[in-house]
Amino acid sequence: NDKLLEIKNLHTGFDIGGKTYYAVKDVSFDVNKKEVVCIVGESGCGKSVMSLSIMDLLPKHNGKIDKGQILFQGKDIVPLTTNEMNNIRGKDISMIFQEPMTALNPVLTIGFQMDEVLLNHTRISKEEVRKKSISLLKQVGISRAEQIVHEFPHQLSGGMRQRVMIAMAIACQPQLLIADEPTTALDVTVQAQILELIKQIQEEVGMAVMLITHDLGVVAEMADRVVVMYAGQVVEQSDVDRIFYDPKHPYTKALLGSIPRLEEKIEVLNTIKGIVPSLKNMPETGCRFADRCPEAMPECRTITPELGETEKGHAVRCILYDTSRPAEKAEVQS
Ligand code: SF4
Ligand code: MG
Repeated sequence: NDKLLEIKNLHTGFDIGGKTYYAVKDVSFDVNKKEVVCIVGESGCGKSVMSLSIMDLLPKHNGKIDKGQILFQGKDIVPLTTNEMNNIRGKDISMIFQEPMTALNPVLTIGFQMDEVLLNHTRISKEEVRKKSISLLKQVGISRAEQIVHEFPHQLSGGMRQRVMIAMAIACQPQLLIADEPTTALDVTVQAQILELIKQIQEEVGMAVMLITHDLGVVAEMADRVVVMYAGQVVEQSDVDRIFYDPKHPYTKALLGSIPRLEEKIEVLNTIKGIVPSLKNMPETGCRFADRCPEAMPECRTITPELGETEKGHAVRCILYDTSRPAEKAEVQS
């Protein structure tokens, strides 16, 4: 069995004023061992809520997984207690965020924080721990590691802080690294270096990576497979080549159309018109992309599209591709 993570019919909701609104609605996909899966979509599409659901880091006061399973190595982790989850988090599944400053403690040295991770999650001895921290920092390309361990987070650049976060994340050799927009806050050259580092570490350590991004350039660089999310749902899912060379969903096509062309002197960002509907304004029936879809038809407002395979390993949620619909069948037969 190559499956490391299996998300099945995940529903994550937020209770607002006595009603549950779903930021993630019936999401299913897998991450195989040693695979890089990119989750792509605009902000507000449920990508981050999905990863927080996996990590059990939803806001406790109103966020909850309502339905569905998250199987990690074949075992459902949704029912686990906070303690049980603490054992998995940072050890088997690690996460890095967009802004490392929020994840690092500003008043503790880098070395102290690195050592803590190792002491909490491994059997490494107190005597050995600092040596290991330094070697991890070197592994992520920090050559001055012996000095850096004595420094505080604010003394490092954004790129260096992200390297430290990656060092912490891989300290326990996790099976899965979840990276939520890990390079968005960095400038372009540093972005490329950090992505290169993640890729290199992924190959060295043999872990799987679930990379969340709104940037299709990042997807092209990193992904083996791609999950496109829109308004809390998976709208297209395939290997990376078919996403770029044979995109099916109008949303995926629109995202591809909005990649800035590097060869153009002035970047013309052909953004998709309109915005992602907010949690409270999600259409009850019909396609959630209908308001913005250039190919929308009247029936897109009344028929709710299901995610279905158009060919093996390529799934799309759009009635244009729904072969189970009688009208489509009739068309094919005639
Ligand atoms: Fe567009 Fe209709 Fe397909 Fe939705 S179902 S993506 S509105 S064509
Ligand atoms: Mg996000």
